[in-house]
Amino acid sequence: MNIIFMGPPGAGKGTQAERIVSEFHIPHISTGDAFRAAMKEGTPLGVEAKKFVDQGLLVPDEITVGIVRERLHQADCAQGFMLDGFPRTISQAESLDAILESMGTKIDAVIDLQVDRSFLLARLTGRRICKSCGSTYHVVFNPPAKENVCDKCGGELYQRSDDTEEKVGTRLDEYINKTAPLLDYYDRQGILRKVNGEQEINTVTAEINSILRGLK
Ligand code: ADP
Ligand code: ADP
Ligand code: ZN
Repeated sequence: MNIIFMGPPGAGKGTQAERIVSEFHIPHISTGDAFRAAMKEGTPLGVEAKKFVDQGLLVPDEITVGIVRERLHQADCAQGFMLDGFPRTISQAESLDAILESMGTKIDAVIDLQVDRSFLLARLTGRRICKSCGSTYHVVFNPPAKENVCDKCGGELYQRSDDTEEKVGTRLDEYINKTAPLLDYYDRQGILRKVNGEQEINTVTAEINSILRGLK
């Protein structure tokens, strides 16, 4: 089962993907996580990506597609995978189709988490991430049991440097201009599944689960 999660920044892609992998046992591939890990390590990829990520701009397609191509060829993707935050441009989607075709597989469903812009600022500025395991929380909507401490691993929580009011505006513009056109691309292929992402986290998970169970 090969799935893509789409939706604007803050729609809940990472949160839902984290929950869905625990049921379906397929790898969760997040290009945002990959860039943040490379930035933290200071690798050449990280240094290059940082120039764009810090401004809230999309990283160029050549860089991004290379990472995903490499990741999809790893053995654990043979049984399926869940892409979160990729593709984000038509060109990335076309490259993905070509990569998958060469591997003899294809995308089964694109889950579009639909959330009105008015919800996103509060979601993004209140987002907190575990430094150790990457789990996502929200100070109001999904707080950990103990403030600033990860429920799963006890790690310390931090705020992403691009989750500020200023960067959120740029990121939403990037989404509207470059990523939203992809919804049509997948709708034409008949694989787009819309989910109301404004509902409670558990309700959204249940809807996605039922769509995915129908695919198996
Ligand atoms: P994305 O990966 O799409 O950017 P996240 O999954 O990181 O989004 O969610 C953004 C923030 O909103 C996080 O702090 C998360 O805890 C919170 N969140 C996610 N889904 C919901 C929801 N359905 N209702 C309220 N808050 C949510
Ligand atoms: P969000 O969870 O808010 O949607 P991500 O963690 O997916 O954000 O991405 C964070 C940043 O990483 C983006 O603003 C962008 O700079 C970069 N990025 C992630 N995925 C891609 C992609 N597919 N193409 C280009 N840039 C990307
Ligand atoms: Zn943790």
